[in-house]
Amino acid sequence: MPDTPMRDANAASALLYSSASLDRAGHYRTDTVWIAAARAGEDALFIPYWRGRMLVALEPSPRAVLSARPRDAAMPAVFLGLESGRPVFAIDLSADEAPLEALIGAAGEFLDLRGLTATLPAAQAGLLATAKALLYWQSRTRFCSVCGAACRPERAGHTMQCSGCGTEHFPRTDPAVIMLVTRGDRVLLGQSHKFPVERNFFSTLAGFVEPGESLEDAVRRETFEEVGVTIGAVTYIGSQPWPFPASLMLGYRAEALSETITLDTEEMRAAAWFTRDDLANRRQAGFNLPPKDSIARRLIEDWMAGATESDMRLS
Ligand SMILES: [Zn+2]
Repeated sequence: MPDTPMRDANAASALLYSSASLDRAGHYRTDTVWIAAARAGEDALFIPYWRGRMLVALEPSPRAVLSARPRDAAMPAVFLGLESGRPVFAIDLSADEAPLEALIGAAGEFLDLRGLTATLPAAQAGLLATAKALLYWQSRTRFCSVCGAACRPERAGHTMQCSGCGTEHFPRTDPAVIMLVTRGDRVLLGQSHKFPVERNFFSTLAGFVEPGESLEDAVRRETFEEVGVTIGAVTYIGSQPWPFPASLMLGYRAEALSETITLDTEEMRAAAWFTRDDLANRRQAGFNLPPKDSIARRLIEDWMAGATESDMRLS
């Protein structure tokens, strides 16, 4: 059976890892009869997951393998929704030493999603990201954080229910702000210690939102903490699911009120102001921009192209 064709959701503006073409069909999650029939049906698609990796066939061009089926028909599966009308399930084979043997009709390799995103169809990248995010969360929610008893998947895998106290645990997403800080015709980019030193790339600043904090306040706090620059106006641009492992990146433009950089050397290797020409000539200068799958890259490239804030809106 060939893998299903999928339409690319709004390819002009879509960011990778969103699954806009997926109908989540949440009303089926509690309909166990429908779920069982959908799963047993011939057109069901399965997304295999193994220890953080996704199953991909590399030839003739990289594609997610969705047509294999689990040998164990009772294996727990998460119902992701309907893609072009076909039910899609995600299955976790992490307990198997040889995961391909647990599947019927599987050929391919389990690979890291981020290494593939330049070549996977965008709709597939979104589906795999959704599967990865949910199964990663399940794997970290095996025991109740209230009473310590074991949890089991409910609602077709979208909640984990405690077998002791009954608490229902919901999938978590960690919000992080990511901001293109500008002043006049320059942009402020930094290099975190988390970035591989050999890549030498400069990116937008970013950080996790803290409890009790608005997103705008998080933009201002993180910028000040990392580079000592104060921020005035903050404008929302768009968001990107970032399942590495469980974030949602919320993209902003932020206007700096000050220029002097005071680097937090615990977190940052370097930071500097750049003009558009500086960025256009980055190869000669010996530095890079962040990977093309990221909202950071999109924010920077849109600014380089002279986009206004309203041009940049990704929704
Ligand atoms: Zn409990």
